[in-house]
Amino acid sequence: MFGTAKSFGVTFAHMFKKQVTEKYPEVRTPTAPRYHGRHILNRHPDGLEKCVGCELCAWACPADAIFVEGGDNTDKTRYSPGERYAVDYQINYARCIFCGLCIEACPTRSLTMSNEYELAADNRRDLIFTKEQLLAPLLEGMEQPPHPMRLGNSEKDYYVKALDNPGTSVGAEKSQAEARQEAAE
Ligand code: SF4
Ligand code: SF4
Repeated sequence: MFGTAKSFGVTFAHMFKKQVTEKYPEVRTPTAPRYHGRHILNRHPDGLEKCVGCELCAWACPADAIFVEGGDNTDKTRYSPGERYAVDYQINYARCIFCGLCIEACPTRSLTMSNEYELAADNRRDLIFTKEQLLAPLLEGMEQPPHPMRLGNSEKDYYVKALDNPGTSVGAEKSQAEARQEAAE
């Protein structure tokens, strides 16, 4: 009885305190610049994928949230510079704890994290993001792979030039909610 009265007392006392709840979703407060949100698989400036299917991100993940299946590029069918690319890539956001160890492990800076936090879903299936969902959009000047290397003759050419032109995908951080809204309009 005393416990019940005490808990009602706590609730009652809070009724007169200043509300701290944001007016979400009408008002979206920007996150901290280095907030760890949804991942992005980045592209080179010609559209080729930076991911080389090495699986280092999957091995680094403490939550076993990443699945990578690597495959071989050929001169006729090329998705990334170099030998390998990711045939399949998935991140399970029902498991991910947004620690960022995967992006630290990535040797090509293919995998980065955006500020997007609107990832809720009402079933587990929709929390498994596919490669298509994670890949950065094609920006101006980019071409949908597969296609030959346009920025050099070797993988090295891409990564040396990447120092001057990181090819980060501006626009890749657009929230899915915005993208869905645009598609519906
Ligand atoms: S952020 Fe952490 S938990 Fe999430 S996929 Fe990367 S390593 Fe795994
Ligand atoms: S995202 Fe990076 S670490 Fe993961 S498979 Fe691709 S290249 Fe390797």
